[in-house]
Amino acid sequence: MSKAKLEQLRSELDKVNLEILELINKRGELVKQTAQAKENHGADKNYDPVRERDMLELIKKNNTGPFKNATIIHLFKEIFKAGLELQEKDHTNDLLVSRKHKNDNTIIDVNGAKFGDGAPHYIFGPCAVESYEQVAQVAEQIKNKGLKIIRGGAFKPRTSPYDFQGLGFDGLKILKEIADEFGLAVVSEIVSPSDVEKAAEYLDVIQIGARNMQNFELLKAAGEVNKPIVLKRGMSATVSDFINAAEYIHSRGNGEIILCERGIRTYETSTRNTLDITAVPILKQETHLPVIVDVTHSTGRRDLLIPAAKAALAIGADGIMAEVHPDPAVALSDAQQQMDFDQFDQFYNEVVKK
Ligand code: PEP
Ligand code: MN
Repeated sequence: MSKAKLEQLRSELDKVNLEILELINKRGELVKQTAQAKENHGADKNYDPVRERDMLELIKKNNTGPFKNATIIHLFKEIFKAGLELQEKDHTNDLLVSRKHKNDNTIIDVNGAKFGDGAPHYIFGPCAVESYEQVAQVAEQIKNKGLKIIRGGAFKPRTSPYDFQGLGFDGLKILKEIADEFGLAVVSEIVSPSDVEKAAEYLDVIQIGARNMQNFELLKAAGEVNKPIVLKRGMSATVSDFINAAEYIHSRGNGEIILCERGIRTYETSTRNTLDITAVPILKQETHLPVIVDVTHSTGRRDLLIPAAKAALAIGADGIMAEVHPDPAVALSDAQQQMDFDQFDQFYNEVVKK
């Protein structure tokens, strides 16, 4: 076949594509008008299987090929499905966090680490703020690595009421001092809606923990401050629950939300939780928000932190959270899973620096 002939066929195909496009959109308009007409008659559902079957029969009868009926039916079913979606008041279309609402990635700047910009960013720090010295030692390690953010819990949601509950606002004050001294941004968990506004004075990022992912009053309060939020996935939350929790925050005006996959409860006991690694690309497809992975709480195992972080970044995570403590053996919480400084160096060399 001559090059000229090929060019001509291609340009005809382009023309046909545009004709199909016009027709599909024309069909879409008709479908919308049909839905409106049905609504005016009080009909409450758009999907009508009998009508769909009749339409497919008519199409099959008139199909002259070269496509087989099965192929044609498949294509038309897709077109019908898209039409139905156009008719439905699909709630996910309306979500502010949805990619359908906003296609561009939301980028959240935390002390120069731009979550969502395509490069990985890191949040390291102890599970809990225990003392100024303890946090300062970790801050020094973080700063020496050129990193920008430290984490540490001051309000610790512990399974047992007899376990260390955190230093509360005294802990936040320590974090604030460290932030100023080392030039780091601080992330810390807040558990009470009434603390959110005051805590915002101390923190650069407010964390909402897994146990509070559906604390709707807390989510609403977080939506009313002008601070980025790290929202962790509840341990029994579906992706849809998680997205709706983020929507609570966004709906109150705060769109600066970093989603954090931190593992879910399953029957598997070899890790503390089961890291739902595919939640990362799903969340990135469904929402425009940055998504990070907490490798510490998801695995609960020091030996899995590096491979889990590599997997998370490979699958498209915007960042990693992991716990670091000067002496994990004596840590007041999560002693089993925090990295010491040697392990932190190794993590840095294998994951961050690459
Ligand atoms: C934490 O990050 O300190 C924490 C308690 O994690 P999670 O809420 O994911 O259990
Ligand atoms: Mn912890």
